[in-house]
Amino acid sequence: VRRNPGESEFHQAVHEVLESVVPVLDRHPEYADVKIIERICEPERQIIFRVPWEDDRGEVHINRGFRVEFNSALGPFKGGLRFHPSVYLGIVKFLGFEQVFKNALSGMPIGGGKGGSDFDPKGRSDREVMRFCQSFMTELYRHIGEYTDVPAGDIGVGGREIGYLFGQYKRITNRYESAVLTGKGLSYGGAQVRREATGYGAVFFAEEMLRAVHDSLEGKRVVVSGSGNVAIYAIEKVHQLGGVVVACSDSSGYVHDDKGIDVELLKDLKEVRRARIDAYVGRRPHARFVADRSVWEVPCQVAVPCATQNEIGAAEAKALISGNCMIVVEGANMPAGPEAIRAFAEAGVRFAPGKAANAGGVAASALEMQQNASRDSWTFEFSEQRLRDIMGDIHRRCYATAEEYGMPGNYVAGANIDGFRRVAEAMLAHGLI
Ligand code: NDP
Repeated sequence: VRRNPGESEFHQAVHEVLESVVPVLDRHPEYADVKIIERICEPERQIIFRVPWEDDRGEVHINRGFRVEFNSALGPFKGGLRFHPSVYLGIVKFLGFEQVFKNALSGMPIGGGKGGSDFDPKGRSDREVMRFCQSFMTELYRHIGEYTDVPAGDIGVGGREIGYLFGQYKRITNRYESAVLTGKGLSYGGAQVRREATGYGAVFFAEEMLRAVHDSLEGKRVVVSGSGNVAIYAIEKVHQLGGVVVACSDSSGYVHDDKGIDVELLKDLKEVRRARIDAYVGRRPHARFVADRSVWEVPCQVAVPCATQNEIGAAEAKALISGNCMIVVEGANMPAGPEAIRAFAEAGVRFAPGKAANAGGVAASALEMQQNASRDSWTFEFSEQRLRDIMGDIHRRCYATAEEYGMPGNYVAGANIDGFRRVAEAMLAHGLI
C-alpha cells in the first residue's frame, strides 16, 4: 500500500489473489527464495503519456493515456484498452494484474497488460473519437507490436475505436501488422466470434457450473448488468440456451422486461444508435425503466454482472441472496467487492470470478492472433466450438485445483491458484529478470 498509494482497486485485486495463493507458497518454498510475489506485483513497465486532440468546435483537450505492461512470462503483453473518465493508474494496474492470471488460466501463450485513457467517448462524434484514437496511437505505437504487446478493447473501446487505432498504427509504421491489435473488424483481419466471445464465454462457464450440480440454464431467470459488448452477447447466449434474461442496465438505470430482453432491439439501441437504455421501453411498452437504481434488486436465479468493478457491494449481494440467486458469474472484471464475495460464500451462492468466467474474450483474441499469424480465417461455428472447449477446460481446471487444495467448489481459489502457478513456474525458469 505504501509503494502504490491511492490505488485502491489495485490493492483490492492483489489482496484477493495473495489471499488465495498462501497454500501454494507453503507447498513451494522455492518461490519465496526468488521473491516471486514481490516481482509478480510489480509491473514490468508502466507508460503514461499525454493525448492532445481537438473537438469539432476546434477546442483543444488534453487527456492522459496509460499502458501498463504487467507480466510477459507467458507471452507478449495482452489486454484491453479502456476509455472512461474514471480511468487512472490504479484502475489500469488492477485490470493488468487480473489479466496476468486470467491469460495464464486461459492456457494461451500470452502475458498480461492493460491500458486506456480518461477520455469519455460518450456524446462525442465519430470524427472526435477518430481524432482522439489517432492521437492516442501516435504515442502508443512505439510500445506495442505482435511480439511485444497486443492491446484489444474494453469499456468504451469497441470495433469503431479498434478500427481507428489500427488505421493509425498502420499509417505510422508502414506495416500491415494484423496481430498488433485484436477485436478488429471482419473486413480487415478480425476473427469470427471475438465480438461475442466474452459474453458467450461467461454463459458457457455458467452452464458448466450448473452442469457440475446436475442442473442447466433451461428456464432460469437471469439478470445481466450493463448493456455493452459483454452484456449483449451474454444475453444472446442465455436465450439460446433456454434461460430468460429479465433485466439489464447502463449507468443511468435498468430496464425490467419480464417477457425477456429483446436482444436485437438492444443491439440496435446500443451498437447502432448509441442510445441510453431508457429508449428500450419506447419500443417495448410493457417493459419498465427504473432510473438510478441497481439492477440487482430484480430477483433472479442467475446473475451475470457485465458492467464494471465493484458494482455489487454488500447491499446488492444481500438483495441477490434474498431473491434466491443460485449462481453469480462475473462477466465484468471484479464487479463483486470483497464483502459481496464473502456474503455469497456464507449463503452458499456459487460464485465465478472474472478471471475465469470472462477469459473467453482474451482467449478468442489469442485465436485471432493465431489466425492472423497463419493468414487464415475460421468459420463462426468452428470458432464458437473452440471457445466452448476453452471455457470447459478453464472450468475443469478451476474445479480440480480447488479440490486439490481442499476447497471444493471455491472457484476464486481454483482460478487464482491455477493462474498463479503457471506464471510463477515460467518466471522461475526465466531466472531473476
Ligand atoms: P462496454 O463499454 O461495451 O459496456 C460497458 C457497460 O457497462 C455499459 O452498459 C456501461 O453503461 C456500463 N458501465 C460502465 N461503467 C459503468 C459505471 N461506472 N457505472 C455503471 N455502469 C457502467 O464495455 P464491455 O462490455 O467491453 O466491458 C464490460 C466489463 O467487461 C468491464 O468490466 C470489462 O473490463 C470487462 N471485460 C470486457 C471484455 C471484452 O472483451 N470487451 C473482456 C473481459 C472483460 P454506460 O454506457 O451508461 O456507461
